[in-house]
Amino acid sequence: MLILLSDAFDAGLAEKLARFGDVTDDKSRAPEADIVLIRSKTTCDKEYIDKAKNLKMIIRGGVGLDNVDREYAKQKGIQVFNTARASSIAVAELAFALMMAVPNRIVPGHVSMSQGHWAKKELKRTELFGKTLGLIGVGLIGSVMAKRAQAFGMKVIAYDKYIDSHPDVELKGTLDDLLAQADYISLHTPLTDETKGMINKNTIAKMKNGAVLINTGRGKCIVREDVAEALHSGKLGGYATDVWYSDPPDKNEPICSAPNVIMTPHIGASTTENLLRIGDIAEELIEKFVNEK
Ligand code: NAD
Repeated sequence: MLILLSDAFDAGLAEKLARFGDVTDDKSRAPEADIVLIRSKTTCDKEYIDKAKNLKMIIRGGVGLDNVDREYAKQKGIQVFNTARASSIAVAELAFALMMAVPNRIVPGHVSMSQGHWAKKELKRTELFGKTLGLIGVGLIGSVMAKRAQAFGMKVIAYDKYIDSHPDVELKGTLDDLLAQADYISLHTPLTDETKGMINKNTIAKMKNGAVLINTGRGKCIVREDVAEALHSGKLGGYATDVWYSDPPDKNEPICSAPNVIMTPHIGASTTENLLRIGDIAEELIEKFVNEK
């Protein structure tokens, strides 16, 4: 059996998986592979699947399965898994760090000092304590984010189209209810036809003036031109994002030149601990597959 590690995984994973067969990171061997492990770089589309004649299993280390043609894989009898439960803490910690960085003026403070300015008077801060955080999507990652925000004395509300109850947060019946009440809004939905562009000029108009948006979900859940315009006008007080229309963003990405933006290069899942957890789950999945053969 040939296992292909097609993207970057923990350095010890190849050795762990060697008990199941040959393990390679040579992508040119994809046509021979029985199992392919990917993260976000490799795309398993129809063409990829057609070439991989031996393929029986695709494991996506991470959550989003937008880079796998699941329907076509199913038709070909190829099992597809993600490792969703591994990444929640890593992504929620980044979302929380982004949310904290905005009112604490950490990036402007750092940048102005590195340019030789002492901006003590200009950099006014506000506190998260007592503010309302609105989560759009309260699944694995949103739920971890909620606990952290509550520990900081925030009120946490959520809008999730597909759940009716949640043990920790007050669920709002409509997105509009959430938008009207939240000081901070954090996106934690997958990218679907329903969530694509859900933050746009109409939904931004329903937010509080100066609301801050955090996005560790998917870049295309916002309409970037509308978010950039709201940052320029001051309607939005900040946009902190890890996710983009494309990785890396285009040269003329409007978010990059808008004011009050904090940016990270899609590193939500990139913690050492998460890579170890992803490896453990991949090993469990392969073990199960081998035992069921
Ligand atoms: P999850 O499936 O546990 O939670 C997603 C939640 O969104 C679910 O509760 C679902 O009901 C809700 N939802 C779906 N459609 C909705 C809609 N139209 N309106 C409101 N709610 C809706 O997934 P998760 O593990 O919490 O991950 C959430 C997302 O985070 C992923 O889909 C992925 O896009 C993103 N993510 C980003 C990174 C990163 O590196 N920044 C890493 C992992 C995941």
